[in-house]
Amino acid sequence: MRTRVTELLGIEHPVVQGGMQWVGLAELASAVSNAGGLGIITGLTQPTPEALLKEVARCRDMTDKPFAVNLTILPTIKPVPYEEYAQAIVDSGVKIVETAGRNPEPFLPLFKAAGIKVIHKCTSIRHSLKAEKIGCDMVSVDGFECAGHPGEDDVTNMILLPLAARRLKIPFLASGGFGDGRGLAAALAMGADGINMGTRFMVTQEAPIHHNVKQRMVEASELDTALIYRSLRNTARVFKNSVAEQVMAIEARAGETNFEDIKHLVAGVKGRELFNDGDLDKGIWSAGMVVGLIDDIPTCAELISRIVREAEHIISDRLERMIA
Ligand code: NAD
Repeated sequence: MRTRVTELLGIEHPVVQGGMQWVGLAELASAVSNAGGLGIITGLTQPTPEALLKEVARCRDMTDKPFAVNLTILPTIKPVPYEEYAQAIVDSGVKIVETAGRNPEPFLPLFKAAGIKVIHKCTSIRHSLKAEKIGCDMVSVDGFECAGHPGEDDVTNMILLPLAARRLKIPFLASGGFGDGRGLAAALAMGADGINMGTRFMVTQEAPIHHNVKQRMVEASELDTALIYRSLRNTARVFKNSVAEQVMAIEARAGETNFEDIKHLVAGVKGRELFNDGDLDKGIWSAGMVVGLIDDIPTCAELISRIVREAEHIISDRLERMIA
């Protein structure tokens, strides 16, 4: 397949791995890139900007294909020196960045001067248009189905993607709810130039998380995600485990929720421990509705080639026959 995304990013297949806290390590990013997609290292998963530089170097040892770094700007428990992470991204020599969370405008001059292409992840059309206006090269349009932070508008990709196709000039990825060839074919049909997948890549051989987490997501249905932090206007879609249920119960109490009331349950470090030791009720982890479509743990190469093959078959066979 050749799309504006494959051309602009210099990759073989229009499949991008989304930035994922604690999951976007060199092992996964290099596996996705070696399989012809775009792998992404998650910047804030590294404890310091120096560690991020080392992680990029480690990834470069594992692949000679393009890969990117994600920089997410959202509320955090500990303050993050975003400027230093942005500088580390430039110093690392990567040529593609995925920004998310907040308007990336303050960092654009730095990235542009270094010849870095910027993909901004947006959960609305107004943010996508703004990203185009300020000079982002591409957006990743993130529907309500997605894992992590879907924003507060609750608009699904069935509406967001055709709107993006009508209004944007720059290429865009469809993100949220994608995990198979049907999804890729549908995304292309709705005007996207490729797909971004997070949750689906968590359930691969190379994802650096405990097997219990992968297996639980294989067993899960589309009803097994939960929305938390709604009351704080920082909504996140996470796997519906007992901890997510406790957070929802606290948020449902009368009166305002204070982040301090749930902090002990949601701290990212607990999620990292859960990924390491496989104790599924230790903390929370992000997961999208696409868990309902996931029923195996393939390698990244098997997954990407299956998705592309399926999509090609749908486009050139199933749809073609309907026209005839
Ligand atoms: P953390 O441990 O600092 O915080 C845990 C969670 O609580 C995060 O989702 C964070 O956004 C939220 N949070 C923190 N302070 C808050 C506040 N005052 N009000 C409302 N919500 C608050 O975060 P982490 O797990 O180490 O993650 C680091 C960064 O990566 C954060 O910006 C986080 O939002 C982001 N992240 C993104 C995704 C995603 O899917 N997009 C998933 C996990 C984390």
